[in-house]
Amino acid sequence: MADHLEAVRALLSFLTNKEQNILKDINEIAGVGHRVVHGGEHFHQSVVVNQAVREILEATKKLAPLHNPPNLMGIDVCTELMVSVPQVAVFDTAFHQTLPPRAFIYAIPYRYYADDHVRRYGFHGISHRYVASRAAKILRGKIDNPRIITCHLGNGSSLCAVAQGQSRDTSMGFTPLSGVVMGTRSGDIDPTVVSFIAEKEQYSLTEVMDVLNRQSGVLGISGVSPDFRDLEKEAAQGHERARLALDVFAYSVARGVASLIPAIDGLDALAFTAGIGENSPKMRRRICSFLAWLGVVLNEDTNSENTGEREISARESKITVLVVPTDEEKIIAQETMEVLQQDKRAEKNRF
Ligand code: ADP
Repeated sequence: MADHLEAVRALLSFLTNKEQNILKDINEIAGVGHRVVHGGEHFHQSVVVNQAVREILEATKKLAPLHNPPNLMGIDVCTELMVSVPQVAVFDTAFHQTLPPRAFIYAIPYRYYADDHVRRYGFHGISHRYVASRAAKILRGKIDNPRIITCHLGNGSSLCAVAQGQSRDTSMGFTPLSGVVMGTRSGDIDPTVVSFIAEKEQYSLTEVMDVLNRQSGVLGISGVSPDFRDLEKEAAQGHERARLALDVFAYSVARGVASLIPAIDGLDALAFTAGIGENSPKMRRRICSFLAWLGVVLNEDTNSENTGEREISARESKITVLVVPTDEEKIIAQETMEVLQQDKRAEKNRF
């Protein structure tokens, strides 16, 4: 596809194609939900995109230069092709807007926050919110108002501490580069490493950021692959650096979990989700082995099954461990319906 306009046009013509028998006409679409990675400090929940919202999104582009420009392009193209259909922005950052200042302020000169909005934002909020709410439902009756840490472990990985259904702290920061070790991203490192690599390689800052975003993580450590299935295979055949990469990842997640416990004054449940979190019993076992001191005990039978949403901790475990498959597209669709219904109700009350 040459550009987003052509891609959305092709999608709409597929959806309205008689042979597909999906939609009779574009007007059957009640709304379009867009995942927008960065909502800055403006958006605490999903919104219908109007001119004012669009202007704020335009200004937020510089906070997420890789993600927000294409997000905005998608919104513009859909607006152009579906003039009367409302467009809804669903933010990855919105769920984390309940973080207290002690969790989001960086210890750098305050003016960078006050003037430039440099702070921890946190990402994967759509997934963390959904997984935490499913976990709370599973625990209902056993624990009310559970304190949960959700572990979204995929190509990008992040952790979130949730109490009273709200995000209280999270591992990612100003951008999705920080926090735990990931497939190709470094996660947290000493910032001095940036100047060291720049000087050693004579790289520009952009080139160093590329090293940290695309050549690091378990790929960087192993030299094999960012995909955990490849790493497991290589490690089983004795590949030392593949083993090391898996060990560093598991430890980094466990350390991240432990570091989030003060945000919610304790821990009732741990919930695993996304590609690795849902599909790798070995990685869940490795991570939980570093948390045995907390009283985490896995049930090896339910941990090894592949049966979707379930409890995987043993009866004697002090912390309930869950697997909750995430479904970000479904959440964006539900959120879009909710926002449109609220919008309709608000419209009615106006008259
Ligand atoms: P994204 O962050 O792009 O949404 P996913 O949540 O789909 O990513 O996760 C992708 C990752 O999940 C892949 O890198 C792969 O390593 C991992 N993964 C998927 N299935 C398995 C599996 N059976 N065992 C181990 N890792 C897996």
